[in-house]
Amino acid sequence: MSRFRDSKFSLLKEYVPGEQPQDKKYIKLNTNESPFPPSPLVISSVNAEEVAKLNLYSDPECKILKKTVAERYGVETENVFLSNGSDEILNFAFMLYGNVNGTVFPDISYGFYKVFGDLYNIKYDAIPLTESFEINPEDYKNTNKFVVIANPNAPTGIALTLDVIEDIIRSNPDNVVLIDEAYVDFGAESALSLIDKYNNLIVCRTYSKSRSLAGARLGFAFASKELIADLELIRNSTNPYNINRLTQIAGTACIREDEYYMNACKEIEKVREYTRAELLKLGFEVLESKANFLFAKHNEIDGNELYLKLKGRGVLVRHFTSERICQFNRITIGTKDQMDIFLETVKSIMEEEK
Ligand code: PMP
Repeated sequence: MSRFRDSKFSLLKEYVPGEQPQDKKYIKLNTNESPFPPSPLVISSVNAEEVAKLNLYSDPECKILKKTVAERYGVETENVFLSNGSDEILNFAFMLYGNVNGTVFPDISYGFYKVFGDLYNIKYDAIPLTESFEINPEDYKNTNKFVVIANPNAPTGIALTLDVIEDIIRSNPDNVVLIDEAYVDFGAESALSLIDKYNNLIVCRTYSKSRSLAGARLGFAFASKELIADLELIRNSTNPYNINRLTQIAGTACIREDEYYMNACKEIEKVREYTRAELLKLGFEVLESKANFLFAKHNEIDGNELYLKLKGRGVLVRHFTSERICQFNRITIGTKDQMDIFLETVKSIMEEEK
């Protein structure tokens, strides 16, 4: 550690993103990206003419993109916040609300929640999931704390219904409830319709998964005017040009071709159910997912061993080392062809185990 660093960071455990190895070409099923390229208008809009304008700053208010997002989702522009990936919204929200009365989130969930909790010295309760890896809604009612729930949850893929989410929001009137809907487009119910009814709700979305724009870094939040103003305060106090020119163009083009992405999501849901059925036939335990990934384990092979053997054969999945889930692997849903190769590879590994 450098002698210049503030010592309060000495114990901070940083977030470790899924690996992006460059040594060979893998079937990449480890970071929940879309297997499909961006839509044609995105590819043609981010062109040499736009690159030639990179000497100029981007629009700090993202006027065109914000208006396009607001129209697409039927909200006012003052209810929309745009960010450099949805991680940035989470960062700002933890910074703003985490320390008011403390924070609650599930113990098995998106790993960044704990990192932000530690970064900002927040008193947080990481509430254990049930035996069946579900969120118990009762744990999140009347908390009087900042509540953060990923719906569907990650890495389990299990979703709560909208009425259950609404009960949680209603029972926490004096604190903010953030619903992280990174994976909502793959079959779960969104809480977006509730932002007019509850001024304590933030719905957080990303273009990294369902919109094939992980590399562009674009996230957005919907909330009451007051909460959006809070997020703007932090954005303008840290990085007002948080969304670069090319991403503003890509995001706007992407929304104009929404049907392309909605069809891609339907296809991913179909391939997910196919993959799940095949894994069940092979004797895996597979949680019921409403996301673009599956969380699965097999009693006859150690989770880490399966991950390493798959990697050795060119298929990357995500393995987590924490005790309760170390027998599982998280498998991003790719194209049908990619999933067939994955399934064949799993089959041959399982044969060798016998
Ligand atoms: N929330 C959840 C639950 C996620 O899994 C991710 C992806 N790692 C994010 C938020 C952040 O996504 P991004 O910053 O790419 O928008």
